[in-house]
Amino acid sequence: MQHGGGVRERGIQQKVKAWVLHGVDQLRFEDMEKAVPKAGEALVSVRAAGVCGSDIPRIYRTGTHKFPLIPGHEFSGEVAALGEGADSRWLGERVGIFPLIPCGKCGPCRKRQYEMCRDYSYLGSRRDGGFAEYVTVPQWNLILLPKQVSFEEAAMLEPMAVAVHAMKRGLGGRMGEDKKTAAVCGLGTIGLLLLMFLKEAGVEKVFVMGNKDFQRNAARKLGVGERDYCDIRKEYGPSWLMERTQGQGVDIFFECVGKNETCSLAVDAAAAGGSVVLAGNPCSNMLFEKDVYWKILRNQLHVTGTWNSSFSHEAEDDWNYSLTRLAGKRIDPAGIISHRYSLDQLHRGLEIMRDKTEDYGKVMIV
Ligand SMILES: [Zn+2]
Ligand SMILES: [Zn+2]
Repeated sequence: MQHGGGVRERGIQQKVKAWVLHGVDQLRFEDMEKAVPKAGEALVSVRAAGVCGSDIPRIYRTGTHKFPLIPGHEFSGEVAALGEGADSRWLGERVGIFPLIPCGKCGPCRKRQYEMCRDYSYLGSRRDGGFAEYVTVPQWNLILLPKQVSFEEAAMLEPMAVAVHAMKRGLGGRMGEDKKTAAVCGLGTIGLLLLMFLKEAGVEKVFVMGNKDFQRNAARKLGVGERDYCDIRKEYGPSWLMERTQGQGVDIFFECVGKNETCSLAVDAAAAGGSVVLAGNPCSNMLFEKDVYWKILRNQLHVTGTWNSSFSHEAEDDWNYSLTRLAGKRIDPAGIISHRYSLDQLHRGLEIMRDKTEDYGKVMIV
């Protein structure tokens, strides 16, 4: 119940549902008291939440930064209540949510490069996230959704912005320049989104490398020809790419796997003076063989890392860039969603991703 002026929701404590992680591999669907937004915060009624690949180790192997904690960092919803001092115009609005809560004081924060904040909090790993009916988030983290963007699409904004960030790291100042060749290795959610954004940005040729039939089909639906898709289970990546680029290699190679072999492949297959963008979270120690390392030197490669996404409430930050393209129907991420479950069935989606019992793309909770 809303009180005029006082935008805080009051009344009897309501029980709401959430998936609470009590320890490694101890995720339980529970009733809990509905959170009350603190000053400057919004209570968001979650309407769609994506499961990220990183949620699997977080829930089953490494745990979150503290327990108990509600995971989930890719979500959207509707503002149901506001804490003191929050702008009442947000009430009832449909929103996307940037999950990183920066300190606002460190060096990167002062440059508005919040993704590199030295002392951040994070929805779904350091404080409660979106695998719940309700979640509290700082008002600063909200992004308003235009009406033509669905909740499900908005729950894809986080991985979209991550893909855009990687793309911009790779293209550098060459956005909008065509006649570039790129390769994307690893076609999970980020890789597929990167493929979409590269095409939308006008990159002339994008080769893609995957290892699942779902990925091959998804790439095909995105207009990738049979000759431009490499199944790395069957083909030796470097020769495959060299054959297709007349021995030149690609201008930009996006590594979205995080394994030694694919990092070596990236360096091997980059053109002289080309760029390698390392986007995959490492599975283990990363080592370069000597001849591969030599290629970084001799080919004068630009090797760069990419992390998270930019969110600064400016028109060209990665979130607004993604949202504009979603709203304009220039990017359609729906084809990446392979499974949909209701909140109480989240565990089924998690198990498919953990046990790899079937091919999957994005698992979405709606
Ligand atoms: Zn994620
Ligand atoms: Zn900071």
